[in-house]
Amino acid sequence: MTSETRSTCPYCGVGCGVIIESHGDQITGVRGDPQHPANFGRLCTKGSTLALTASASVTRQTRLLQPMLRSLRKQAPAPVSWDQALDLASQRFAGVIEEHGPDAVGFYVSGQLLTEDYYVFNKLVKGLIGSNNIDTNSRLCMSSAVAGYKQTLGADAPPTCYDDVNHAQCIFIVGSNTAYAHPILFRRIEDAKAANPLLKIIFCDPRRTATAEIADLYLPLLPGTDVSLFNGMLHIMLWEGWVDNAYIKAHTSGFEALKATVRDYTPQQVAQTCGISQHDLFGAAKLFATSPATLSLYCQGLNQSSSGTAKNAALINLHLACAHIGKPGAGPFSLTGQPNAMGGREVGGLANLLSGHRDLNNAQHRAEVAALWGVPSVPDKPGKTAIDMFQAAADGEIKALWIACTNPAQSMPDQATVRRALERAEFVVVQEAFASTSSCDFADLLLPATTWGEKTGTVTNSERRISRVRPAVAAPGQTRHDWVIAVDFGRRLEKALHAKRKPGGLESDPGTTLFPYPIDDPATGVQAIWNEHRESTRGRDLDITGMSYAMLEEAPQQWPLAEGQRQGKARLYEDGIFPTADGRARFVNTVYQPVAEPRESRFPFSLTTGRLRDQWHGMSRTGTLGRLFGHVAEPAIEMNAQDMARRLLKDGDLVQVSSKRGAIVVPVQSSAEIGMSQAFMAMHWGQEYLSGQSSQGQALAGVNALTTSASCPSSRQPELKHAAVRIEKAELPWSLLAMAWLPEGQALNTHTLLKALMTRFAFASCVPFSNSTPLGDRSRERSGVLFRAAARDAASTDTLQSLEQLLGLDTADVLRYADLKKGQHRSVRLSRTGEQAKVTGFVLAGDIRAQAWIKTLLEDELPAQAYGRLLLLPGAEAPVAVQSRGKPVCSCLNVTDSAIAGFLQGAAQESVGHPDADAQCLARLQAQLRCGTQCGSCLPELKRMVRARSACGASQGATAAN
Ligand code: SF4
Repeated sequence: MTSETRSTCPYCGVGCGVIIESHGDQITGVRGDPQHPANFGRLCTKGSTLALTASASVTRQTRLLQPMLRSLRKQAPAPVSWDQALDLASQRFAGVIEEHGPDAVGFYVSGQLLTEDYYVFNKLVKGLIGSNNIDTNSRLCMSSAVAGYKQTLGADAPPTCYDDVNHAQCIFIVGSNTAYAHPILFRRIEDAKAANPLLKIIFCDPRRTATAEIADLYLPLLPGTDVSLFNGMLHIMLWEGWVDNAYIKAHTSGFEALKATVRDYTPQQVAQTCGISQHDLFGAAKLFATSPATLSLYCQGLNQSSSGTAKNAALINLHLACAHIGKPGAGPFSLTGQPNAMGGREVGGLANLLSGHRDLNNAQHRAEVAALWGVPSVPDKPGKTAIDMFQAAADGEIKALWIACTNPAQSMPDQATVRRALERAEFVVVQEAFASTSSCDFADLLLPATTWGEKTGTVTNSERRISRVRPAVAAPGQTRHDWVIAVDFGRRLEKALHAKRKPGGLESDPGTTLFPYPIDDPATGVQAIWNEHRESTRGRDLDITGMSYAMLEEAPQQWPLAEGQRQGKARLYEDGIFPTADGRARFVNTVYQPVAEPRESRFPFSLTTGRLRDQWHGMSRTGTLGRLFGHVAEPAIEMNAQDMARRLLKDGDLVQVSSKRGAIVVPVQSSAEIGMSQAFMAMHWGQEYLSGQSSQGQALAGVNALTTSASCPSSRQPELKHAAVRIEKAELPWSLLAMAWLPEGQALNTHTLLKALMTRFAFASCVPFSNSTPLGDRSRERSGVLFRAAARDAASTDTLQSLEQLLGLDTADVLRYADLKKGQHRSVRLSRTGEQAKVTGFVLAGDIRAQAWIKTLLEDELPAQAYGRLLLLPGAEAPVAVQSRGKPVCSCLNVTDSAIAGFLQGAAQESVGHPDADAQCLARLQAQLRCGTQCGSCLPELKRMVRARSACGASQGATAAN
């Protein structure tokens, strides 16, 4: 019988509600929860494919299902029992603590943990071990937003809610590709714009991303210049008399100093610094200030910066100056990247925070938390933030590392240092759901954790709304909930520390435990932890003492909701009173500082990183589905076409991208989204998908080999949005492309095995692919793997044989050609059904000019019997053009760019010039091909294509008229 379970999407901070369908121990489907106030039933491409990532054939290949111990580094780990694993872990950690002190261990956790997981980890480190060395990947994502809110408004609390989108008259989107990073919120913005034609949208970003499609005004500001922009806008607002002096006087402090500073930010100077026109700068200031209600939406473009806190504060300054806060449709709304970055902040899960939004550097706060936990004290020495923690491990200062639910060997900047840290640490524990992440390769001990669909607890989304995460199926294999692992380890560590008579920060009775939560009864245990967390919020800005788990069972709830109140607050500061000592919000005197590593002649490009539409972070989950590689199939770096032309680069050429920290080799693609002297690469491409070997013999570690750990002095958030790089053509004359369909349930295993071959080449990428049937039609679905490589010299026969073997191309029926002297090698598998033969796998090595049509024959499963020997001939062209089906734009219904272009070609002249021409054309396109009618994630791209057709139609019309 099919069961249904309400839960929450595990990807972005929108926090959409989902209904999971399951049958026995198998998740069989997912749909949006129509009652959840974040999404009202909608899901994006990532959310709507969640059930596929939890299918038996995927989990069999990807999950870590039992504790594993590696007795020697770089060797395969062997299974151990939970008792053996946690006894060993507690002994090793206790040993390090005894010998080197509590600060010789570090815990690096994740914004994807649930609040209850986070709470226990925080208590474990700060309460039991007596160190503050616990930080989280939210440091890479949200810490500038935290610092910005606290400096200005007095508390880390977004004062807005999603419904504000419906009340705003101006939406200012800055440093956020909302269309890709928060798609369901973007759907709400689209709806608000359709319902209210007066709503104006300003979009500021160095890249003209899909989000620009909805903007009335687009400002392509240069990377890192946001503070200058905001100060310049304030300068104009002051000059024009658009600020709200009464509000400033009644509710704020510090304006005079800021006013003096922004006097120097003249429109002329700011326009030059930011690379925008004075006209657009003025337009943005006017729309922002004079609108009845302005809502700002911002994300990593502001946060991931060496002046991230100043950027946040400078934007909030604008809201305070214009009184765009504390009323419907107005306020600075930081969008959280991860599903529970907010929950982590609530329990103080960062090296500088304590439970209930308390500060580590506040003695009163430390005493309150110590009393709550029943420990003598909480250490006052600040813990090491993410960057410092890995640097300390690389320097030998931190000896033991515990990594939970995150993949620092992919996501942290400056991978050379991170990898040195993971190699040098004496003992590395990785607590993970997936066995395939790069960090697992460095673990001495691997601990299998439950994941989405199996976990129980709570998460908080961007609008301060707490939702339940519920299990639809039992924990597979020997996996355990993250908090259960932390509790079990904590109890054993308590004993080990007492036995060694050096209990870190703990001097409690050895008969008691700091972790009295029943691990054999997760439903009760998780509630006990949450209740303790709830008590820690009493009297704080995020007070949830009026909330209960029972209420959360009914519906998600927003904080604050203090005891005696009936419901949470949708908006904060409506009374103009802020949680500061004098009740006033504080203007911060923000001064523009350039990026930490300005472009220079040796490194003349500004590399920025960001998200793809259909992928999530390190792709440990989304990367399991070939269909999610349909939209962007392979790693690439994007550049402006003029920059490419100057360097004689064409699409697909391999380039070496170098920064002061490392280098990678990757194909280049031109993009109209990228400005001159800039480049973009998706944050997702780690060593799992993009690798190779440097001339010094080191494995190349994906995009974060290039990025810098330079960070904001206030938030310690690294500058992932800018690194100065050099881009040169990579002279690797020998190329290889191999593809094969693989039997059901083997593509991901094969992908994992192929990783070992990637480092044999100067460049290699390896990605899954599928035949992208419409979502829901799984009967025809097939999966395969694409492997691409290049080198100075031809690969050895041994390497080619290994590749063929892994792809199933080592059988007698495979057609072959080889000219070893010339480095040419071909193998093609033609699979016959009756009279028809299809290419189901191939390796082309040496001359791969025929790659396009042979790849299409395989991907589109076209009849291939007519091509015969041409398939083996180096450089052969197809006798008849092989028409590709194209790249999926709408991945729900598998509608490709070619099909859409075909429709639009027919419609090129239709109704161009009519005021609603584009809207009508889009409606007809959707009616005919049905693209964009399901999750809607492709709508910005469809609109862009329709607009391009109308520009083209208009120019054709003009030509005809002439
Ligand atoms: Fe999940 Fe997409 Fe909703 Fe984000 S917008 S929570 S990824 S369904």
